[in-house]
Amino acid sequence: MGTYAIAVLPGDGIGPEVIEQAVRVLQTIASRYGHTFTTTSALVGVSAIEAEGDAISDATMNLCQQSDAILFGAVGGAPRYEGPNAKIQPARALFRLRKDLELYANLRPIRPLQALLNASTIKAEVLQGTDFLVVRELTGGLYFGKPSEIRETSQGYDAIDTLIYSEAEIERILRTAFELARARRKKVTSVDKANVLSSSRLWRRTADRVAAAYPDVTLEHLLVDACAMHLIRRPTSFDVIVTENMFGDILTDEASMLAGSMGMLPSASLGTRKTAHGLFGLYEPIHGSAPDIAGQQKANPIAAILTVAMMLRYSFNLKQEADAIEAAVEQVVNAGYRTEDLREAGTEVVRTQEMGRLIAEALL
Ligand code: NAD
Repeated sequence: MGTYAIAVLPGDGIGPEVIEQAVRVLQTIASRYGHTFTTTSALVGVSAIEAEGDAISDATMNLCQQSDAILFGAVGGAPRYEGPNAKIQPARALFRLRKDLELYANLRPIRPLQALLNASTIKAEVLQGTDFLVVRELTGGLYFGKPSEIRETSQGYDAIDTLIYSEAEIERILRTAFELARARRKKVTSVDKANVLSSSRLWRRTADRVAAAYPDVTLEHLLVDACAMHLIRRPTSFDVIVTENMFGDILTDEASMLAGSMGMLPSASLGTRKTAHGLFGLYEPIHGSAPDIAGQQKANPIAAILTVAMMLRYSFNLKQEADAIEAAVEQVVNAGYRTEDLREAGTEVVRTQEMGRLIAEALL
């Protein structure tokens, strides 16, 4: 039995709807196993810009610093803050959290549930047995490199973004991937574009050097374009995929389709900071604020709920509790309940709150 402090940042759009169900499941775990999860909520994204003048306030950053983990929904979805001329972008909340808290390793497990194989656009026989983990570098590369700007020249406008990685940044994310592979099927696929990019050549060289310290783990190199193809051609051949920030961003949205819906995939963002319970981390579903369905109780809360399982596993070392949540999700899906995004003949479509309630009940 333990006491854990969690900062809850539901955000915008469907964020509050799915996080409400994630917290319901978290508190069900508390009562079943005798833990105390102290949750403190704060604003991020559009709601924070409008109420507090920034996508994440200093007070909310302090709250996160003092917590054992962060549960995050999604931000964005208001066109007035998303144009190229918007002064404060809602996504700044995430970038600040990742950068200031040094959360450089984003873990995205992809394991389609057996009962959902037919919900994917990929053939069930290709998906059968798929179980891999994408480790995406989160605080470097094109999304953070400077300069990044649109410039006026005598010939009109041009624009520049900067893809820069230090060897130390590459090495630490590769080590994370190799360590994780050791606890799995001992294979790492390092994804780069070494035939074109200098940053990728440094990446590949570093991967070969780091691999020497892990003789029990097999290293495979793949070019990112080939990886995009193999993800849907032979998804079962992957165990741990490690890649830089933008490649990981794109490949994981592609990979989400193996699981049937964006609404099924959780993620964890970790660094090296330790708390009294384990590794500090930020946990969020991979999807965005889905403005097209927000406020209608149509969102699938399973990604957010599985995010809680990742938090229990990685930040609190509560493996049994994490397994129980994953089993409860599988039980409810096996019983034929689906949210709108997974609608299939012969299943019962339920609303967001109902899905959360069914999963919480399965836990008891
Ligand atoms: P999105 O992930 O919000 O939605 C893409 C599609 O998937 C939509 O059709 C949506 O209805 C559906 N979808 C997503 N999550 C779902 C769920 N849980 N259940 C059922 N269906 C779901 O991506 P988008 O439409 O490109 O972006 C919308 C906004 O979200 C943008 O402002 C974008 O910047 C923001 N965004 C935020 C994050 C984040 O906070 N981490 C991530 C991605 C996008």
